[in-house]
Amino acid sequence: MLILGVGVGLYWDSLQNLHTAWLSAAWGALLAVMLWSLVDTLRGLRVLAWLRKGDMAMAPHPMGLWGEVVDRTRRLVRLRERALSESEQRLKDFLSAIQASPNGVVLLDADSQIEWCNQMAAQQLGLDIPRDLKQRIGNLLRDPGFTAYMANPDSSASVVLQGRNHRVDHPERVSLQRHPYGDGKQLLLTRDVTALEQAEAMRRDFVANVSHEIRTPLTVLSGFVETLQNLPLAPDEQQHYLALMATQAHRMQSLVEDLLTLSRLEGSPVPGYHSPLDLSRLLRDCEQEARALSASVVQGGPAHAVTFVVAPALGGVQLLGDGRELQSAVSNLVSNAVRYTPAGGRIQLTALPQDDGGLSVQIQDSGPGIAPEHVPRLTERFYRVDRSRSRESGGTGLGLAIVKHVMQRHGGSLSIHSEVGQGSCFTLKLPADRWRATTRPATPQL
Ligand code: ADP
Repeated sequence: MLILGVGVGLYWDSLQNLHTAWLSAAWGALLAVMLWSLVDTLRGLRVLAWLRKGDMAMAPHPMGLWGEVVDRTRRLVRLRERALSESEQRLKDFLSAIQASPNGVVLLDADSQIEWCNQMAAQQLGLDIPRDLKQRIGNLLRDPGFTAYMANPDSSASVVLQGRNHRVDHPERVSLQRHPYGDGKQLLLTRDVTALEQAEAMRRDFVANVSHEIRTPLTVLSGFVETLQNLPLAPDEQQHYLALMATQAHRMQSLVEDLLTLSRLEGSPVPGYHSPLDLSRLLRDCEQEARALSASVVQGGPAHAVTFVVAPALGGVQLLGDGRELQSAVSNLVSNAVRYTPAGGRIQLTALPQDDGGLSVQIQDSGPGIAPEHVPRLTERFYRVDRSRSRESGGTGLGLAIVKHVMQRHGGSLSIHSEVGQGSCFTLKLPADRWRATTRPATPQL
């Protein structure tokens, strides 16, 4: 541009012939500098306009210094964009991880307003996101326990609230703990503790029940011991008291045995498939037990009519599981049927193949039946419909709990159908992999 200016100056000089050559060259150079500045300013303005607009796709491509400015700016912006998208992705991953947490998370700002919360917290506390964002949590959760907890400067403890869907027949309890962080902000962590509280209540009930069950025969026993020690009794009276004491001792023994069985069932691994138990042997033993028990409970009345039937379609059958457990499940049900069915009643056990390949063992009796409100609770430990009837007949209240456990451990189930006055039917179902046929059916299968 400068050379061009000087050239233009000299040309002008030769044309005009009025100025000296060096002066003309200087003017030309000045003109060239001005032109160059003008062009450069225009380029700069284009770059500035592009930067103001901020549209990277519309970047100008000027030459020289401005070109490099544009290139470096674009490179810098690209680097920033990449860093931003990486940190956005990290934030997304982080939030997804908190969303996936089984615990609720609520972030509160310094004014106790909700900044963010995951779905679990919203569900447990009954919050509506995004409606409740920026709302003070104290205005949304009105539980007095929560208000007192939030007002307490000591955040080390936690508070337990009723969950949003809490009902008497469907308890829902949520534990909440706050953790201060940052500048007056707080993190609230929520956890569903319904199952935990129920387990704790069950444990307390269980200890109370066991103590009660043991205390009753113990009190009777120690009363008889005192009587024998202090009263001059005739030998036949002594024998009478000793027999009563033996009954109480036997009751305590049964209770301890059932408790040990339950704890063994809970603590041992699922039974394997490699020690088969012959169904016919199991039924023969149970049948003998049933007849012996019947003879002892009818007390001179007509014995029970006990029939055990294996469906002809079954042939020989082996049960695959823990033989002792399976035997105790069937024998518990048979013993209940005998104990709760009045003298002369009918008891029938039927083994049947199922359409799904499983095997069912039904124990049907013609006893008093059970009212529908009791049926769902019968497998709870120590639950009895008629407490004195159960005790009189040597029941511990743990039999059906044991049966249910045994079936669950074998992948099966216990179902109960009963109607007052119509008798009861207890059905054990074993899945297809828990039994096998050893001989062909007696008659062709339909
Ligand atoms: P228990 O040792 O008291 O028999 P279970 O757990 O075996 O305890 O049974 C729980 C309750 O279920 C019994 O107390 C009884 O009230 C009821 N029950 C069980 N089997 C029968 C049955 N076959 N007929 C009527 N009631 C039954």
